[in-house]
Amino acid sequence: SDHQLEYPASPAEMDWAKLYPHLQDEATGEMTKKVTIADIGCGFGGLLVDLSPAFPENLILGMEIRVQVTNYVEDRIIALRAQNKDNLKYRNINVLRGNAMKFLPNFFEKSQLEKMFFCFPDPHFKQRKHKARIITNTLLSEYAYVLKEGGVIYTITDVEDLHLWMVKHLEEHPLFERLSEEWENNDTCVQIMRNATEEGKKVERKKGDKFVACFKRLPNPTII
Ligand code: SAM
Repeated sequence: SDHQLEYPASPAEMDWAKLYPHLQDEATGEMTKKVTIADIGCGFGGLLVDLSPAFPENLILGMEIRVQVTNYVEDRIIALRAQNKDNLKYRNINVLRGNAMKFLPNFFEKSQLEKMFFCFPDPHFKQRKHKARIITNTLLSEYAYVLKEGGVIYTITDVEDLHLWMVKHLEEHPLFERLSEEWENNDTCVQIMRNATEEGKKVERKKGDKFVACFKRLPNPTII
């Protein structure tokens, strides 16, 4: 449970160089970049691995609550980096064990993120379990806090009921606006998200449906 989770008191206190050692300035010790893309509940890391070459200039972080799964992704990234020593690939991705429903502002500053992915989140089918879903009004305000204006929340699921739930909550939230199907069809990340994750591949094999919805972070309303 959470008391075993390690998390920094604030984003500045996090040891980012441990996750992205190649992006630390040798002279100052400061990081040259900050994480701008987050994969929430990244599972086995397929999305991270495919996003890495598509966004070589961005730092990408997967957040995963299960210890074993996090360890697997860590090992996967270590191996990929070793295999690609000469071309310097996969230095921009890593994974962190954490509960994304609780500690996001400990890891990310206000407006830090450009993209957040929620790929095949746990459906929590039963009515009384709905409050455990990763998209709720309260959590959306937290996601809006760490996302910059114009940033995007990506969602995909094979569970239609969960899709409708996520769309409803995002549509009701004043700081998010749904992006059009045309926008989705022209967006690189949507293409990657449809096929990259382990859960997405499983759904593909079963020839199941995949429901996609993307939302833009709106500017904060001005108080006159
Ligand atoms: N996104 C991956 C994919 O598409 O293959 C994994 C999907 S899996 C169904 C959902 C993942 O979310 C699980 O690996 C689970 O451990 C993780 N998860 C659930 N709640 C979480 C939380 N509060 N914080 C971080 N990860 C969480």
